[in-house]
Amino acid sequence: MTPLVTNIQKYSIHDGDGIRTSVFFKGCPLRCVWCHNPETQKCTNQLLTSNEKCTGCGYCVPACPNHAIRIVDGKSQTDMSLCKVCGKCTEVCPQNIRETAGREYTVPELVKELRKDEMFYEESGGGVTLSGGEVMAMDMDYIEALVKKLYRFGITVTIDTCGYAPYENYQRILPFTDTFLYDVKVMDREKHRKYIGADNTLILENLEKLSADGARIYIRIPTVKEVNGTDEDMRQIIDYLLEKKIRVAQINLLPYHNTGSSKYARLGEQYEGNGLTAPSREEMEHFVGLFEKAGFHNTKIGG
Ligand code: SF4
Ligand code: SF4
Repeated sequence: MTPLVTNIQKYSIHDGDGIRTSVFFKGCPLRCVWCHNPETQKCTNQLLTSNEKCTGCGYCVPACPNHAIRIVDGKSQTDMSLCKVCGKCTEVCPQNIRETAGREYTVPELVKELRKDEMFYEESGGGVTLSGGEVMAMDMDYIEALVKKLYRFGITVTIDTCGYAPYENYQRILPFTDTFLYDVKVMDREKHRKYIGADNTLILENLEKLSADGARIYIRIPTVKEVNGTDEDMRQIIDYLLEKKIRVAQINLLPYHNTGSSKYARLGEQYEGNGLTAPSREEMEHFVGLFEKAGFHNTKIGG
């Protein structure tokens, strides 16, 4: 299946080196409770809608071939179980509150789009970041073709990955990939299962293999007080990186934020991260100190 794209974000400075264009693909095998891109979790097209600015004009009701929309108390209400994500309602809504997430691009179409920003990549040492969702769990014929084409045009590729995919997929693109932004969330397996939705064994095995195979790796640690916000949690990560001699080019501690939480309601889903909090600035700086003390001098807060 051709991966669907939810967003092509230009001038990004948080997804790797320099100025980058980030492509967000749809589909992820994990379910981090704080995920701020919930529209990228499922690999299929989805409708996002909201009632806040709905005027109740009703234009969307007859536009829907599947009778999924009705007006209730002056606002549109969509039965997501009937919605086939045809996009017809998005074309008629004068308030532009309906949109579909997930567009198909052929590899040449996507490369053409990404090459528009080549000048910025060259001047800033940037390039393209493939993100999601989980890029490494997509149709790898597509991803490999995309990465190779960008490589041939001299555009450096960074892969933002949760690590939960077959290692063969990483091997296929490793020679054409500049950097991996690799998530290490928490070492405790129970917590990992609880907050991320799967065991971390495969993730850590892949990281060790990637490191042994010479990849350039930025370790990304989404930092959430309730998940990995103690010295013990951070020390476990440090001990693991040292013990396994992971080749770390940079460590990024990414403080939790809930900016994506409103998207869950727009998708007809429930945000499960309401009880989560970000460590204070002082706590984040303290964690940076722990990594620096252990010899990881290129440790930063943020991407
Ligand atoms: S996307 Fe299509 S099926 Fe879904 S609510 Fe809109 S018009 Fe109906
Ligand atoms: S067309 Fe848009 S503004 Fe009008 S009822 Fe439907 S969702 Fe609301």
